[in-house]
Amino acid sequence: MPGQSATALRKQTAALPPTTQILSWGRYPKTAHAKVHRPAWNDQVPEILQTAAPDSLLPYGLGRSYGDSCLNAGRELIDCKRLNRILGFDELSGMLRCEGGVSLSDIIDVFLPKGWFLPVTPGTRFVTVGGAIANDVHGKNHHCAGTFGSHVRQIALHRSSDGLVACSSNENADMLRATIGGLGLTGVIAWADIQLKRVAGPWIDADLVPFQSLSSFLDLSRESDGRFEYTVAWLDCFSGKNLRGIFFRGNHAANSGKEFHSKRGPKMPFALPAWMLNRYSVKAFNNTYYRLHARKTGATVLPYDSFFYPLDSIRQWNLLYGKRGFLQYQCVIPETNLAAVVELLDRIARSGMGSFLGVLKQFGSAPSAGMLSFPRPGLTIALDFAMRGERTLQLMQSLDEIVKQSGGALYPAKDARMSPALFEASFPRWRSFVPYIDPKMSSSFWRRVTGAH
Ligand SMILES: Cc1cc2nc3c(=O)[nH]c(=O)nc-3n(C[C@H](O)[C@H](O)[C@H](O)COP(=O)(O)OP(=O)(O)OC[C@H]3O[C@@H](n4cnc5c(N)ncnc54)[C@H](O)[C@@H]3O)c2cc1C
Repeated sequence: MPGQSATALRKQTAALPPTTQILSWGRYPKTAHAKVHRPAWNDQVPEILQTAAPDSLLPYGLGRSYGDSCLNAGRELIDCKRLNRILGFDELSGMLRCEGGVSLSDIIDVFLPKGWFLPVTPGTRFVTVGGAIANDVHGKNHHCAGTFGSHVRQIALHRSSDGLVACSSNENADMLRATIGGLGLTGVIAWADIQLKRVAGPWIDADLVPFQSLSSFLDLSRESDGRFEYTVAWLDCFSGKNLRGIFFRGNHAANSGKEFHSKRGPKMPFALPAWMLNRYSVKAFNNTYYRLHARKTGATVLPYDSFFYPLDSIRQWNLLYGKRGFLQYQCVIPETNLAAVVELLDRIARSGMGSFLGVLKQFGSAPSAGMLSFPRPGLTIALDFAMRGERTLQLMQSLDEIVKQSGGALYPAKDARMSPALFEASFPRWRSFVPYIDPKMSSSFWRRVTGAH
């Protein structure tokens, strides 16, 4: 930071006053923390780890997880945002070394102008590298690129008892597999080596196709997977059994020389009153969205940010859901069980509680890189629900039954409420991950789903 000496910054590993409220993206649950450490340098992390009580700490990135996997109620967080330095880059191979708090947005800003892009990106660029590894995030190219973790070649991990541990496929390979998708529980990622991918420029050759049934979605998906690097669909959560949506697909475009300017969108100034988002307003929005996009079908060239990050164009859009916040339900259902997908969508449509964000994507078959990674072959569905108390939770519990019976799974990064039984069904091998947990680490999510202290 300009004007401040390294020593002054080191002294600032300030902790905020007790009971600091830190929220995740869904703003539910409302969680108070005992302390938030904000190290500015990686060499401050060992002291935080060594002086902490057992089961007391959790790393925190940009809080873009929706539920409680990035929260540690009543205990402490290590906010990694200031550990955000780019440490090296090989211009020939595209190998990047950066600290865990560097955001995907920073990487794009620095490297896209040089012709390099992220190998995998989630639907927001405001995610740290540490967070992307800890949830082994996936993107629209899952069918051809797998998860973020498959592009991580090496990490250095702060562990409370072993110091800084290098992990790669040759060294501590098990610890690397545990940390990818390891929910921040194995230690603090100090830095990571990530293989970026070459692209011609910031434009995407995109194609929009409306569809009116699950089988036409599947046909489109199968037909597109070989030709398009990126595929995803928006679905109208009120359409139920008569499913309809818009299929988006695209490839990086050849460099047209067209000038590119990134736009900064408006910001939600405050939480909207809850009554503004009701079944009638959402239904009307979904109708309009479908009709507008159904009219725009066909090939078009889009700036990369409109294609990958449409939601980022409204900063703090999570305030749309009002003071009580919202939950996202993201599951994966095996393709052998399409009846379960239909039943799930139908139940949501009949509840009238869905919202305008509904996403459907067919995962590829590449095995994920982490022990607890969520992506696996099947159809993944993600839907937002405004938090309306017991009736929202009841609806989600009834969806859990469908997911469990279908042999599917729920995504921890989006979850604030799944039961231990559903976690067990989703991640039956979670016990083999336990030996890799750092004894100083814990989280609200982990205690809730495993009964750990
Ligand atoms: C609009 C939106 C769209 C999204 N789209 C997708 C999507 O398409 N695909 C997808 O997979 N996810 C998606 N997500 C979820 C998001 O990508 C993940 O939750 C991601 O992990 C958030 O990263 P973060 O930096 O905000 O970390 P946080 O949410 O703060 O933390 C996430 C996890 O990372 C751990 N962690 C953070 N930093 C470190 C570190 N330095 N060392 C070790 N552990 C660390 C935390 O302990 C926690 O377990 C989306 C989220 C939003 C808000």
